[in-house]
Amino acid sequence: MTAHKPAADLLVNGAAELLTCRPDAPDLVGRIPNGSVAIAGERILAVGPAAEMARAVDLGRARVIDASGRTILPGFVDCHTHVVFGGSRVEEYAARLTGENVDSLAALGVPVGIRGTAALTRSLSVDQLVGQALPRLGEMLASGTTTAESKSGYGLSVESELDLLRVNRRLNETQPVDVLSTFLGAHAIPEDSSRATYVSAILEEMLPAVAAEGLAEFCDVYCDDGFYTLDESRRILEGGLEHGLQPKIHLDAYSHTGAAPLAAELGCVSADHLNLTPPEGIELLVDAGVTLVAMPALDLAVAHPQPLHARELVDAGGELALATDMCPGCWLTSMQLVIVLACRLQRLSVAEAVRAATLGAAAALGCEQEIGSLEPGKLADLIVLDVPRFEELAYRLGRNSVEKVVKRGVVVIDRVAA
Ligand code: ZN
Repeated sequence: MTAHKPAADLLVNGAAELLTCRPDAPDLVGRIPNGSVAIAGERILAVGPAAEMARAVDLGRARVIDASGRTILPGFVDCHTHVVFGGSRVEEYAARLTGENVDSLAALGVPVGIRGTAALTRSLSVDQLVGQALPRLGEMLASGTTTAESKSGYGLSVESELDLLRVNRRLNETQPVDVLSTFLGAHAIPEDSSRATYVSAILEEMLPAVAAEGLAEFCDVYCDDGFYTLDESRRILEGGLEHGLQPKIHLDAYSHTGAAPLAAELGCVSADHLNLTPPEGIELLVDAGVTLVAMPALDLAVAHPQPLHARELVDAGGELALATDMCPGCWLTSMQLVIVLACRLQRLSVAEAVRAATLGAAAALGCEQEIGSLEPGKLADLIVLDVPRFEELAYRLGRNSVEKVVKRGVVVIDRVAA
């Protein structure tokens, strides 16, 4: 007598290799040659060698996708983006390439910096901002990102910050990528407000409204010279916690703020950038279980004078995550390029980078129980690459190797069928 077997409705079958990226994988990526994944509804039923699938799962009614010669891995998680904003800063970017002084551009009314983007963003409606962000999310999905975090922070007023979070909600509802929302009212100090007045508005008006409307999962703060001080960062992140928002922090991107102990003390779900964080600060974060987020494309885009050495974070025993930092100053939608840069510029192995772009990034969003690896019970978010080895991700520079994207059990991108 055979036990009743669960029925799959989709089988992605016989890949040259399948990466589970499961937490306990000794090789970090859980490589399975000739691997398959069986899916029912939006969840994974079984993962393993193709020859063993029929034993565990009823495949009688399953639609089969042949993945021979290809690579299956979890969908990428982009755990740090500023994907919602108005307009562009292409003039500023082009000028900075040759070291031009951008102050003269600003004097001509060309948007420069966070404040320049904030002025453009405030001039747009929720509908218009959704319209500008949707193509960016479409590019992310087509290059394999199945979950993305999205921060506010270009509104810098009560009404505009809330609107940006409403944009996040709309984006989450209107396209396949799951969008997790982060309140980053503390991104810069607005031109039309004093520091003290604006921090009070964050604490007394924005945070209660964000919580009342359920608009964000996380509260983030840009802790750096010229942005938010250590003391302000503490007050804002503690205020977020009081309103049920998990803390995240932009930490030591351009100056050493001394905020690593704060991030460890508050149990930040992630600490991001870390360019100037000293080893003892990294150690505190690692001991506190804070996920460390590296964004090599940002360092490239701004020609950072002190690029992050992610290798050192891994060697310190940290849970590493990768992200694009998609924003007007680093216009990147592809986690594949992030992997290229992390491997070559930050000296990660391909396995370390892939792990950081999937399970590590899921941990940076507190979602590692739901996404980031291919395991029974988790969401069926996966990608099929048209190459037979996962190392090709680091090797083929600037190429989109994603052939199919399965999001919550549904094939949402298929380059072969297209
Ligand atoms: Zn950021």
